[in-house]
Amino acid sequence: MGDVLTKAIAKGVRAYASVTTDTVNEAITRHKLSPLAAAALGRTMTGALLLAANLKNKEAVTLKIAGDGVLGKITADATPEGYVRGFLENPAANLPLKSDGKLAVGAGVGRGFLFLTRFTGLKEPVTGSAELISGEIAEDITNYLFVSEQTPSSVGLGVLVDTDGAAKAAGGFFLQTLPDIDDEILNIVEENIKKLPPVSTLISEGKSAEDILKLLLNGAPDFEMLTKTDVSFRCKCSRERIEEVLISTGEKELKSLIADGRAEVVCHFCGEKYEFNKDDLEMLLRVTEKAKKWKEEHGI
Ligand SMILES: [Zn+2]
Repeated sequence: MGDVLTKAIAKGVRAYASVTTDTVNEAITRHKLSPLAAAALGRTMTGALLLAANLKNKEAVTLKIAGDGVLGKITADATPEGYVRGFLENPAANLPLKSDGKLAVGAGVGRGFLFLTRFTGLKEPVTGSAELISGEIAEDITNYLFVSEQTPSSVGLGVLVDTDGAAKAAGGFFLQTLPDIDDEILNIVEENIKKLPPVSTLISEGKSAEDILKLLLNGAPDFEMLTKTDVSFRCKCSRERIEEVLISTGEKELKSLIADGRAEVVCHFCGEKYEFNKDDLEMLLRVTEKAKKWKEEHGI
């Protein structure tokens, strides 16, 4: 079926829902995530996708959950085109299940702050922050939007991890009330949210993003389904970009890598490994030396 993010609107309210099971499974494979790490990173990546959904093309968000728990800092980048990538500091971290049998995401994240950066292309990126209130991520995003951006919203995120460590179901929703909403519609939507089973349960039962939006906006006037975007894990790294990074480390560092005979660079965001042999590194050194000479000749 594939991962998607679907948007809908009704009078005084807009809502997005996303299924991210395959995307979270790709993150699990790439980063060898423990079940706890899979739940935390999966929720953060899904949250970032939902927060990016109302941006324009080529814009992006970075969502950082910086807690003091065993998982370490969690980072996810997402774009309105449906691309997301993410990583966390301690992918193998685990904790015993909570008494209700659920993964202890809040404890794994710990206390700290949420940072949200929007890259709008036109201006400098804008970063806002708010204290984490539970470390469960969905509540922290809702709190951030209210405290830092004065936007009343409701966010639900869920990752159901199977006994084999794979994500059985993952996804989320984002619902925002608009300033012109009247009390009657607000009551309808609030009741729908209260009655909504956990998103991961709905998705594991085979419900689509559209089905979730129908449940959220059931009974709201002028309800209309809008766009549907494919969602996938995608990183911006490439061999060319890693070469630029190696060149920027300078002659001395390159010479020491050449002495080692090889170098391996791993992209934090996606776990992709880039191998450089002696010939590759010598070529990069020549580029560095050429650039240095050119700068000297031109007095830069
Ligand atoms: Zn990468």
